[in-house]
Amino acid sequence: MKLGKIIIIILSVFIVSCSNNSEKKEEWSKITRESKKINNITYYFSSEIDILRRNYAIKECQNSIIENLKLIKETEFTNEMDIEFVESRKEMLKYTGMGAQGMAFPKRNTLFTLLKDEGSPIKHEVMHMITMYKWGIPSESSTWMNEGLATYAGGSCPGFSLSESYKYFIQSKKVISMKNLAINFYGNPEMIAYTQSAFVCKFLIDNYGLGKFKLLWKNGFNELQSIYGFNNQELEMSLLEFITKKYSTEIEFNWNKFNEGC
Ligand SMILES: [Zn+2]
Repeated sequence: MKLGKIIIIILSVFIVSCSNNSEKKEEWSKITRESKKINNITYYFSSEIDILRRNYAIKECQNSIIENLKLIKETEFTNEMDIEFVESRKEMLKYTGMGAQGMAFPKRNTLFTLLKDEGSPIKHEVMHMITMYKWGIPSESSTWMNEGLATYAGGSCPGFSLSESYKYFIQSKKVISMKNLAINFYGNPEMIAYTQSAFVCKFLIDNYGLGKFKLLWKNGFNELQSIYGFNNQELEMSLLEFITKKYSTEIEFNWNKFNEGC
């Protein structure tokens, strides 16, 4: 038999066997995601989410961008970005490696967020994306600034203002030293670390502007003195002075409720 004929026979057998395999009945379930691109952002949802809910979430993203830009005195945000809405922390864990409420990955141009009609993490996560695109990935010792600014933007837990919370951390001796906050952010109790960082970010921006804030973000906590002209202990003293002026006596604070998160 000629070589050509042999090849044709082998190929036919292969094709027949392939088509037989595809005819076998297998159990597959269909999972569909749908997307919509508006300007520079593409939004992804499970096809099971109704349109009204999708539009509500998209509007929240758009408003978050406008308000966050205003907070950091920037005017536009044009980076191409995907926003993936997922429906459970389990799903979040599968896609991001962490069962968080939201995760921002500027290097992947993707933001994952839980789809929540109330208490959504969108504004917090969008702030991460905007600042990391505009100012770069912060120095490791600026993680507290990255999380603090996003928490400040996202809003404190209802009923607990940032300054009230800080006053309580001081009066209950739960306050974290600035050094510890900077060098070991995630090693501290979560609710205190995030809220205290948000308070300190607001304090620095309100009193010294965004120029110095951005420099510290990029260069890290070791440059505090050279950028601001004071060291970590002097900063702690200023924060204490500010909060004592605002609240001269001890305040009521529902620690258990606060610590449950919002
Ligand atoms: Zn965050």
